[in-house]
Amino acid sequence: MKKILHADCDCFYAAVEMRDNPALADRPIAVGGRADHRGVIATCNYPARAFGVRSAMPSAQALKLCPELEIIRPDFERYRAVSADIQALFFELTPKVEPLSLDEAYLDVSDVTRFQGSATWMARWLKEQALSRTGITLSVGAAPNKFLAKIASDWDKPDGLRVITPDEADAFIDQLTVNKLHGVGPATAAKLERLGIRTCPELRDVSLARLLENFGKFGQRLYELSRGIDHREVNITRERKSVSVETTFDQDLPDLPACQQAVTALVVKLDERLARHEHPPLNKLFVKVRFNDFSITTLETSGVTPGLEIYQHLLDEAWHRRARPVRLLGVGVRLTPPDDLKQLGLF
Ligand SMILES: [Mg+2]
Repeated sequence: MKKILHADCDCFYAAVEMRDNPALADRPIAVGGRADHRGVIATCNYPARAFGVRSAMPSAQALKLCPELEIIRPDFERYRAVSADIQALFFELTPKVEPLSLDEAYLDVSDVTRFQGSATWMARWLKEQALSRTGITLSVGAAPNKFLAKIASDWDKPDGLRVITPDEADAFIDQLTVNKLHGVGPATAAKLERLGIRTCPELRDVSLARLLENFGKFGQRLYELSRGIDHREVNITRERKSVSVETTFDQDLPDLPACQQAVTALVVKLDERLARHEHPPLNKLFVKVRFNDFSITTLETSGVTPGLEIYQHLLDEAWHRRARPVRLLGVGVRLTPPDDLKQLGLF
């Protein structure tokens, strides 16, 4: 049985701001864009949440809910520095770390022998160390798999610590509504509701055949998740070399056609950059999109010819994940890591 931790900082950007200016701690604050520039809230502290302010909410709406809300412009450089300290802490516990964002990661601690192998002690240690080294509170969930660990870290937020042992897993899942399951967004939840399925026990009563019929391949996943089955490994991302170009736009690109136009210039620049130097073989092409709500998505495909058409195709798909104005676009190629070349016998 695996032991997975999911560690997640509490309202990360806002937490860094409050750490650096303690006078903010008891006041409602948010990090985000200006209301008069159609900005949105990236994150907010708990006093702000008490007013109903939420991530991805337009700043203007947030100010209506909470007129005294102080909206701070994001300082990603500072957030990245804190993030590096916290990620380094994770790696002290285990090399099996899968960072999900600046403030969040999965850790596979199945083989860790420190703390007598107790996931609870490890989680407690991470929380103590994060707080004493960076002044930031972490919520940690421990469970036999990724999806339960992620729900667990969210369970007692902020400053949470929730452990789900293999014995407790079934009872824990029984109390969940389906929207807690990994990959079940509002659309899938609504479709399940139309089928009369709102909770995990209700989902378990549905046959696999019926789920496959209604949800295609995802039906299999629903069948497994409702039974606490999730075989996904913690993905240890290696330092991969890549070549890329990106642009942050002064004014958000309003729609997909505007993005497609902008990406043409980026691909030309990328071509020039690739032509300038000799590189190891290319093995992946990717696009990166940062939307005006600060969410970032990247999409990659295996391929060796970085042509405009394939980037436009990737962009199309990536853009539709959020379908909103875009602040930053990037295109790039990943290069075959030297280790892989060795394994292929090319060195
Ligand atoms: Mg977080």
